[in-house]
Amino acid sequence: MSSSTGAPAATPAGAVHTLPSYLQADHLGPWGNYLQQVDRVTPYLGSLARWVETLKRPKRILIVDVPIELDNGTIAHYEGYRVQHNLSRGPGKGGVRFHQDVTLSEVMALSAWMSVKNAAVNVPYGGAKGGIRVDPKKLSMGELERLTRRYTSEIGLLIGPSKDIPAPDVNTNGQIMAWMMDTYSMNVGATATGVVTGKPVDLGGSLGRVEATGRGVYTVGVEAAKLTGLALEGARVAVQGFGNVGGIAAKLFAEAGAKVVAVQDHTGTIFNGQGLDVPALLAHVKTRGGVGGFAGADVMKAEEFWAVDCEILIPAALEGQITKDNAGQIKAKLVIEGANGPTTTEADDILHDKGVLVLPDVIANAGGVTVSYFEWVQDFSSFFWSEDEINARLVRIMQEAFAGIWQVAQEHKVSLRTATFIVACKRILHAREMRGLYP
Ligand code: GLU
Repeated sequence: MSSSTGAPAATPAGAVHTLPSYLQADHLGPWGNYLQQVDRVTPYLGSLARWVETLKRPKRILIVDVPIELDNGTIAHYEGYRVQHNLSRGPGKGGVRFHQDVTLSEVMALSAWMSVKNAAVNVPYGGAKGGIRVDPKKLSMGELERLTRRYTSEIGLLIGPSKDIPAPDVNTNGQIMAWMMDTYSMNVGATATGVVTGKPVDLGGSLGRVEATGRGVYTVGVEAAKLTGLALEGARVAVQGFGNVGGIAAKLFAEAGAKVVAVQDHTGTIFNGQGLDVPALLAHVKTRGGVGGFAGADVMKAEEFWAVDCEILIPAALEGQITKDNAGQIKAKLVIEGANGPTTTEADDILHDKGVLVLPDVIANAGGVTVSYFEWVQDFSSFFWSEDEINARLVRIMQEAFAGIWQVAQEHKVSLRTATFIVACKRILHAREMRGLYP
């Protein structure tokens, strides 16, 4: 067994001493990337390192067949997943993504990053994630609803307000959460708003949830800028992905006086050295579905995006975007990971050697799940808070978590990613140890 998978050299007779094939690092996929991150944190875990194997094995993996009738009368089958990575600190929590490239390895990694993220901001959850391998843009609204409802029913074994609480992720939104909530509620015979978060406000959703991830990205960006002496006024920002995360973060940075000079999404790459008109771009994206065709900018080649002159780079799309092939071209001083897993481990090292500060996903994009937690608490008490109160609590949690992680990074002279893993994995494994093994 190679050390990269971290399995103990000798194990008692009968114990599973090699990881099953689907858990092994392929070093190309997101799960391999995650395992490398765990290996890096292990030397800092002290006596809790005894439990570290827990982090390398999701607690539960459910693969479901999701059949639906298409509008043309044919029956289509899609593959769906729900992975509960760890439940030591509380119920499973994490989004559901609909994307044509979703794989089990990806959902496993995303569920593990949720465990780390939830522990990093100290919300009382374990980590989980779900997904369906489907291109939802090719489905009608009716097909999308049938897909969502059948998937919800299939994963009904695992989810519930005190068991595992899904939320939006890539290509899922409030409408999809409303269908999930309704399907679960129909199956249990009572309205259970707390089974999902990210719902529309009229269905027990929380004010500020849609903007929360972008607001969290901005909040940690401001903290890092203060600590490193980077002036936000006039700072040039490049953003990949212009949905809930990238779009809102861009808006907040522009309002703080930064210039958003380049944006890339699945419809194109645009550039304006004077700074894009962010509100106009948000309005364009709303009607056109992407940044492509925006009048107030020049078009760039996709591969030129990473080399754009800027101080702040925000990858806010999918994982595995910053790789050993493009990390060397990055000019930014600060990379803020709005997406989950956008930087490979090799690229992380290249950026570190160049002196680029990376604010890792597991803290930088934790604003979304933090306000999901507020939504869940509000649903349980049926008492709803004002948007100002929500934003103030969100900013406080993000600032405090970030300050703690910064201190650990200084203390151990490690990257902010390793520092976040140290803080989070200690919390998870301490809970694991205190609970003990059953039976
Ligand atoms: N999908 C979001 C994330 O990756 C939010 C998860 C949640 O709110 O449960 O953090």
